[in-house]
Amino acid sequence: MVKSKKWIMAKVFDGTPKQDDFKLLEEELPPVQDGEILLEGLYFSVDPYMRGYDLSGLVGHQMVGSQVAKVLESKHKDYKPGDLVMGYFGWRSHTVHHGDKSLGLGDPKIKPYILPDFQGLSPSLGLGVLGMPGNTAYFGFLEICKPKAGETVVVNAAAGAVGMHVGQIAKIKGCRVIGFAGSDEKVEWLKNDIGFDAAFNYKKVEVEKALAESAPSGVDCYFDNVGGEMSSIIMDNMNLFGRVSVCGAISAYNETVKPKATVIQGTLIKKQLKLEGFLVYRWDDRWMEGIKQNLEWIKEGKLKYQETITNGFENMPKAFIEMLEGKNFGKAVIKA
Ligand code: NDP
Repeated sequence: MVKSKKWIMAKVFDGTPKQDDFKLLEEELPPVQDGEILLEGLYFSVDPYMRGYDLSGLVGHQMVGSQVAKVLESKHKDYKPGDLVMGYFGWRSHTVHHGDKSLGLGDPKIKPYILPDFQGLSPSLGLGVLGMPGNTAYFGFLEICKPKAGETVVVNAAAGAVGMHVGQIAKIKGCRVIGFAGSDEKVEWLKNDIGFDAAFNYKKVEVEKALAESAPSGVDCYFDNVGGEMSSIIMDNMNLFGRVSVCGAISAYNETVKPKATVIQGTLIKKQLKLEGFLVYRWDDRWMEGIKQNLEWIKEGKLKYQETITNGFENMPKAFIEMLEGKNFGKAVIKA
């Protein structure tokens, strides 16, 4: 009999999540039936959507989320013991899963899949640069912003999993890149290690002044991870026919009263901007294309990545809270 540990949501989040919003439980798993697999989680993901989405219906239930897990036992023809699988099994250490089912938050169409060959790189990257955040950057930036060489691109949460990736794709495409991030250390890394043309600590600078200094000819593409007033200011500094990819609104996720920001409609009209929100699962039919391209860029030395790894399944709430506080550098991952 296999026992699984699982984190449930004990309370509705009120502001920034707290340790006692979560509770660790243990349960016995049923024996594996035909068509099922038994998995052991190796790496777990904590992501902003776990705070951005309304999860109040989950109180008393297991937290949602993705993990890279190892198949321990299989009664499904497509899986064998030892396979590494990416799936939305939630915050749980062991899982018995019906191998044909799709599962997860908001029914993402991404069914669990065996990780492609990462050519020696860590399987944990299947939760980051070679997984959902990597594809968010790849599809969300290229398909919506359609950047052209020589254009100026702005990205915020720029030292996070999606942001640092977007900035580097922009460099690969020959653009000038300006990033906003929440610490001096992050800013230095963006400029010195991954070639951002300019980067600013948004906690210390005025965004308007930073743009006047770094983008005097205006911004052509804006990849928005943050939302709020910062976005209104950036859009106000965009060029005619600029494109905005609306990826996230993390500045508002922990707010109990949703913040208000300067009206942008006048700017959208005057500058004839295109503004489009997206969910990365829009490109589920091209999922492996994104992973393959991102892996190729890593192997060519064109794409760097960072992971902030927290050890121990029991530290998942801590890692989640710290990610929301900006303590992560690149993808926040928990190692079992
Ligand atoms: P990150 O790795 O970027 O981690 C979150 C970061 O957000 C923190 O490190 C912190 O960095 C920053 N942050 C926290 N609070 C604020 C704030 N008030 N203002 C500005 N920045 C803040 O996470 P991801 O890369 O996984 O996600 C980035 C964004 O992309 C999120 O908004 C997320 O919801 C969105 N997303 C959307 C998807 C989609 O399909 N549309 C898919 C995946 C992600 P700092 O130190 O810079 O403050």
